[in-house]
Amino acid sequence: MVYYKIIYGVITFVKNIKCVKMKSIEDIYNRIRENSTSFLGYPLAKDFDFSEFAPFLNLCINNVGDPESTSTLAIDTKDAEREVVEFFAKILSSSIDEVWGYVTNGGTEGNLYGLYLARENFNNPIVYYSESTHYSVKKNLHLLNLKNIVVRSQKNGEIDYNDLKNLLTLHRDKPAIFFLNIGTTMTEAVDDLAKIKEIIRECAIKDYYIHCDAAFLGAIAPFVEPKPRFDFSEDVDSISISGHKFIGGPIPCGIVLTKRKHRNRIVNSVSYVGTLDTTITGSRNGLTPLLLWSFIKKHGEEGLMKRARKSQVLAAYTEKRLKEIGVNAWRNNEALTVVFDKPSDDLCAKYQLASENAIAHIICVPGIRQEQIDVFINDYEKELFVNDAS
Ligand SMILES: *Cc1c(COP(=O)(O)O)cnc(C)c1O
Repeated sequence: MVYYKIIYGVITFVKNIKCVKMKSIEDIYNRIRENSTSFLGYPLAKDFDFSEFAPFLNLCINNVGDPESTSTLAIDTKDAEREVVEFFAKILSSSIDEVWGYVTNGGTEGNLYGLYLARENFNNPIVYYSESTHYSVKKNLHLLNLKNIVVRSQKNGEIDYNDLKNLLTLHRDKPAIFFLNIGTTMTEAVDDLAKIKEIIRECAIKDYYIHCDAAFLGAIAPFVEPKPRFDFSEDVDSISISGHKFIGGPIPCGIVLTKRKHRNRIVNSVSYVGTLDTTITGSRNGLTPLLLWSFIKKHGEEGLMKRARKSQVLAAYTEKRLKEIGVNAWRNNEALTVVFDKPSDDLCAKYQLASENAIAHIICVPGIRQEQIDVFINDYEKELFVNDAS
């Protein structure tokens, strides 16, 4: 009995040592800092400094409920949130007279919200989306119990219009929800809204809803040429954007926008918090609207335009350098995403490169320096040389 107690004591002691070591804030900070400067394969801008907001970490902040409706709980940043929504409505060719929105926990929540509003519009609709769509769409459709059909993609990641037309022709009696990609995750491909509208006309679909997943491109597309056509001037119904991707920040977030009539259909008043319940979660992050707001104040449209241009230049450089060392590399139009033949697993791990099948990508977001690209190219070239020799 005593032996057991001693052994148990020793085990607990050792475990505790490990826990204490795991819990060192400095260790965690250093690990993330190091890893966050080295990755090249994810669309997360790294050039931000939000340290002026540190005092807010010692406050209760909560944006519970609709951003346009005050709550009995008055510890919110809804004024900043409304300005963020207004800014995005404007760059997406609309205004807050027509469009309503809120700051989400990320692109996935915005996509879930768009699909939710779409579902509330119709009886037994079918959702169409391409096979290049973000993995989260499946889970969202499952949560909403929505019937759906996967459409083939073209090689570049864009939806296959012929396949879409054939599928629609087979289901002309059902309302259609189009879940479109304005920049796919892997190749930054943009589904062509003009072509899709033409197909809708040809199939004479009367009841339809268009949601745009612009997780990465939403804060870029309004400022580049050729400008992808996906905003409210094209009569889309909802758009989801990630805030922590091209804008960047320490906390995942996003913006979802929709025509007011869709939001008005689902609005619900709740006496407990004295506000309107129009969002997916109850309590909502009050810090992320503040960070997005401060970015917009500092950079504005002009700043976003410069950022996009600078990133495009780096992407063009990366594509050129890869081709120079004999790697098969390409981009969709002026994309920030450079797609190329996947290098070894070691190299993918070292530079945190996402890969799918035989391709990998580098996403030239703000905060990635040309020297980092050069170091990667050197590594890749060495690897090719060794492979050639063996
Ligand atoms: C990143 C991404 C998402 C998911 O966004 P989160 O902000 O990570 O939830 C959805 N769609 C596309 C195309 C994406 O690139």
